[in-house]
Amino acid sequence: MQFNTRYSLLDSKLFHQQMPAPLIGAKAGHFNAALADELGWSEADKADWVQICSGQKTFAEFPPLAMVYAGHQFGQWAGQLGDGRGLLLAQIIDQHGKTIDLHLKGAGKTPYSRMGDGRAVLRSVIREYLAGHALNALGVPSSNVVGFTTSTQPIQREKIEHGAMMLRSSDCHIRLGHFEWINQYAPKLLPEFTQKCIEWHYPECLEHEQPILAFATKVIQNTAIMIAKWQLVGFAHGVMNTDNLNITGSTLDFGPYGFMERFRPNWINNHSDHSGRYTYQQQPSVAHWNLWVWLNNLIPLAKAEEKDIFKEQLAQCLEHFEPTFLEHYQHGLSQKMGLPHFHKDSFDCAMLFLRILQSEQLDYTQSFLRLQNKQYTELKDDCLDPRQFDDFLTQYENIRMHQDTEQLDLDMKTANPVYILRNYMAQKAIELAENDDFSEVERLFNLLKQPFSKQSDLEKAEDLAPLASDQPEVMVSCSS
Ligand code: AMP
Ligand code: MG
Repeated sequence: MQFNTRYSLLDSKLFHQQMPAPLIGAKAGHFNAALADELGWSEADKADWVQICSGQKTFAEFPPLAMVYAGHQFGQWAGQLGDGRGLLLAQIIDQHGKTIDLHLKGAGKTPYSRMGDGRAVLRSVIREYLAGHALNALGVPSSNVVGFTTSTQPIQREKIEHGAMMLRSSDCHIRLGHFEWINQYAPKLLPEFTQKCIEWHYPECLEHEQPILAFATKVIQNTAIMIAKWQLVGFAHGVMNTDNLNITGSTLDFGPYGFMERFRPNWINNHSDHSGRYTYQQQPSVAHWNLWVWLNNLIPLAKAEEKDIFKEQLAQCLEHFEPTFLEHYQHGLSQKMGLPHFHKDSFDCAMLFLRILQSEQLDYTQSFLRLQNKQYTELKDDCLDPRQFDDFLTQYENIRMHQDTEQLDLDMKTANPVYILRNYMAQKAIELAENDDFSEVERLFNLLKQPFSKQSDLEKAEDLAPLASDQPEVMVSCSS
């Protein structure tokens, strides 16, 4: 591995250096060797993956550290937070020359642990392992996991669970909440910290007349693009607090996430989200709110006499959110539908399709596949109100009539996954893994690597099956 020590060279108020507390009795869980290769791991590093992913082996080239940050959780100021059970184990340079963070999750208590035990459990580690892998394969920018280890060390959650540890990779662990912490507790650090964020993550903005505004616009646009991609694959993050969104717009810290099965935009997958703040349909507006909170933390960067104009300029940056989101969402949705995105009626037609899925409670992923495979009769037969479907189909076929449908059909195949990580698929893999059987983790790992291709040799009927109509969606606990 090649290292880059850049975060450890920042002001020491921004982190606490410490070594991981190794997982006792660590055993191999699963390892993503292809990702390790991409990250430039040598054969020797790969041979040591269990030691690395259980906190037993660290690197002399990088001092492990817990980052401090703050955040708004469920819309309320939560004060100081930080890596309470994770450590930035190293920053390394991948095969493309890009600096990537390796973050060890479940690495023991830190000064930011508050009431927590500093540990992670096998259930949530497997959920993050499979979802990070699935999102990357679906083309959604996201953290990923290089490998995880497990043990019989008991961890108290709602019940006793197995202890586990995982090594996450991400292009960035700097959260919106980092800026909130700095403003509240160490405001003098703001200019230098912002400058570093721009240099590291948006160097092209340095050329701009007003680099901070260019940076803010980029963060806003990247976040909007990420959210559009979530909406398109039916991903609900579950806990979009400002400490769980980073400044590069790659998905991070998705504990109680879910991939939507029936199309229910107001479905709550996080068991602790009593008000439904983080439902699927709220994600764009919550991201917008989080970014507004974040922008307020950039105001002190203006000179006193320029504050008012700077505030206005920041507000203008935020105006990029909606058009960027809509452009990517509309484009992606047209592609999923096999409709030309430039046609004035395509979006309305797609919305009509989504309204049918919603009122008929149809499976989101399966319905798009049926549309792609021209299984119109099957779709209609599942509707209690078939007239609504007939109206849609007339409109749909009218729009496609004079188009290059061959190309549109090809495009559909790159936009509609055959496989998503349904909640019970993950659950099955977890239950077996808790009994030392990782075969289902392995099968899902392989299946989700190519989500757009049918894999009859790997597939099980349940992978495709929509939830039975009498079966409620599972709510996922935040306690992980
Ligand atoms: P999350 O909602 O998972 O993003 O976590 C919010 C904050 O709580 C973060 O600062 C985490 O590091 C911290 N945290 C979550 N679980 C634990 C735990 N078991 N031990 C210590 N800190 C934790
Ligand atoms: Mg978090």
